[in-house]
Amino acid sequence: MTTETGTPARGPHFAGAGSWYRGNLHCHTTESDGNLSPSDAAAGFANLGYDFLAITDHDRITDPASVDAHGLCLIPSVELTAGAGLLGTEFHLLGIGIDPSTVLPPGTSPGRVSSAWLREQGAAVFAAHPHWSGLTVDDLMGLTIDGIEACNGGTTLDSLKGEAFTYWDEGLLRGACWTGLGTDDTHWHTLDRGTAWVMVRATERTPAALVSAIKAGHFYGSTGPDIKDVYLEFVDDCRVLKVHVHTSPVAAMYLSGPGARSRHTFHETTSGITSVTEVDPARMSITSHTFEVDLTVSGPARHAGRGTGQRHIRVSCMDWNRGRAWSNPLFF
Ligand SMILES: [Zn+2]
Ligand SMILES: [Zn+2]
Repeated sequence: MTTETGTPARGPHFAGAGSWYRGNLHCHTTESDGNLSPSDAAAGFANLGYDFLAITDHDRITDPASVDAHGLCLIPSVELTAGAGLLGTEFHLLGIGIDPSTVLPPGTSPGRVSSAWLREQGAAVFAAHPHWSGLTVDDLMGLTIDGIEACNGGTTLDSLKGEAFTYWDEGLLRGACWTGLGTDDTHWHTLDRGTAWVMVRATERTPAALVSAIKAGHFYGSTGPDIKDVYLEFVDDCRVLKVHVHTSPVAAMYLSGPGARSRHTFHETTSGITSVTEVDPARMSITSHTFEVDLTVSGPARHAGRGTGQRHIRVSCMDWNRGRAWSNPLFF
């Protein structure tokens, strides 16, 4: 990303040519432990207005050629079991975009081996639900992954262990370049659909273009609002960083940096509220904001990861229904 003074540097996930496509990258069917057939699963997400779906049955690749896609783009994918992490629990890796004829490694293979193997097959690789799996950040740092599930809505419904934002932020501070998915992990057991998703910026709605964009980090995760644009601008001889954010109407926007060095913003009128009856989403929503960060003092973008020299910020927002959206990290 350019750091030329005064030259806006659009977040890479917002810069690419193409269109936004909404999809779920984690879904089970009767081919493993899901309640619906693959074709019915596709119908379920088509009914939600999704553009694409990755069926990720456990330790098998459900061939999209055998599925009635109901108009969705189906990405051949798998949720691969891996051998125990540092605390002794086996865990799961998502391989998004893999030839359906591929013979998978045994589920007892170490995660560092299986994740590297998935990468070699051309898949985008993510650690699924790290909290639910009982993983540590040390486990994740030893994997060959593009990112992690920052929010797995189905696991949140099942166990309240579906979120991994703390894993994500610690990994970034330790030098990882992970992206953060929102997924459903749909089993069709509960209300585990449409809970969390990704919006991918891709040149076309094909498996190859979507996987390429996902690997490049050209997406954001959401449980509600839309992030329309994020871009960085360095001014004053690169002493000041401006982070321009545009979203659908939201209650708040956040600039996340290391530790307590973060920022937030609400509509200017919220600071004058003296009664709950004064809270009016229609009047108090915001759709754009520019965070201004002095890079010469301690702040959200001042700190580089210890020993890594890597600096980044993340942008998030929250709507009035507590739905959230989060960008991937922007490195500079
Ligand atoms: Zn899983
Ligand atoms: Zn799963």
